[in-house]
Amino acid sequence: MGKKSGILKLFLITLLAFPFLAGGKMQDDLKKEGKMLLFNARTGETEEVERVIKSDAEWKKILTPEQFKIMRQKGTERPFAFQCPLPPKGGKAIYQCVGCGTDLFSFDAKFESGTGWPSFWQPVSDLNIKEEADDSFGMHRVEVFCARCGAHLGHVFDDGPPPSGKRYCINAIALKLTDYAGKSSLVPKAYPKALFAAGCFWGVEAAFRQVKGVISVRSGYTGGNFKNPTYKDVCSGKTGHAEAVEIEYDPLIVSYGQLLDVFWRIHDPTTLNKQGPDIGDQYRSAIFVYTPEQKSLALDSKKKLELSKAYSRPVVTEITAAGEFYPAEEYHQRYYEKHGIKGCALRVK
Ligand SMILES: [Zn+2]
Repeated sequence: MGKKSGILKLFLITLLAFPFLAGGKMQDDLKKEGKMLLFNARTGETEEVERVIKSDAEWKKILTPEQFKIMRQKGTERPFAFQCPLPPKGGKAIYQCVGCGTDLFSFDAKFESGTGWPSFWQPVSDLNIKEEADDSFGMHRVEVFCARCGAHLGHVFDDGPPPSGKRYCINAIALKLTDYAGKSSLVPKAYPKALFAAGCFWGVEAAFRQVKGVISVRSGYTGGNFKNPTYKDVCSGKTGHAEAVEIEYDPLIVSYGQLLDVFWRIHDPTTLNKQGPDIGDQYRSAIFVYTPEQKSLALDSKKKLELSKAYSRPVVTEITAAGEFYPAEEYHQRYYEKHGIKGCALRVK
């Protein structure tokens, strides 16, 4: 073994064997009894609750030795050491603190980082987690705690995906999964996006506007390489762009899986570069995905549709990574509303 790898190994052993014990100022604040405000992800309401303060002996009765080491002594589980619980496909769920049941992260904010630890791009609310600089082990990191019981959860980094750019790197052993039921009035800092092409965007936009939990829909162009295209450019057939809708949605009300269901219902995914009377690759059927999670849900739902034998012809829908989205000219936005078109011109199976 070379000198460098020896030092690295020693460092890793130190990291795992000697959890960082000295608490910062935040930790002291979290040890004070009293009331605090907490966000309840199921009701969407902010509630006043008592902090959860326990002695180490009391925590040891509730937590496994491994959980105690990580949550109360700032340990770090080995990557890939624990399976992070997942809800059924397309299901909605909340990850809570194992120690006190506080809602921490929505399943919809989870993404695959490849690090071996569950990763999220935002917490359910800034009320429910606390962050503090952590300069242990000669590294500058930002530590993440449960705001109610002070449990160490992991760290947050600035290399996450859009829209937040954050990566909350959390120990799986500190999380428990709970079913989500009921709607929420939570207004997250940023909503996740979905991007679909299903023929003429006027009707597709109108259809998604009717979906509960959809915050905004914009008609536009994507999928080609032509920068800042106009409608005329796209109609020339030379830009490679499809007419598409960019959707922002509240994952606590509507899941990505439910948006996919709407997508399949409102067009014919078996006609190549054609929807009804509209012909050309701008009218192609496509799902542009922002995350590996969206990709896997899209691939699964396409497969499910094919297996259902709803169509005799093959499903030709493209599933590709989302690129630049160019909003269409203002007169294309809310086109049906502006022109008093009530009846949905879309094909509904
Ligand atoms: Zn907690």
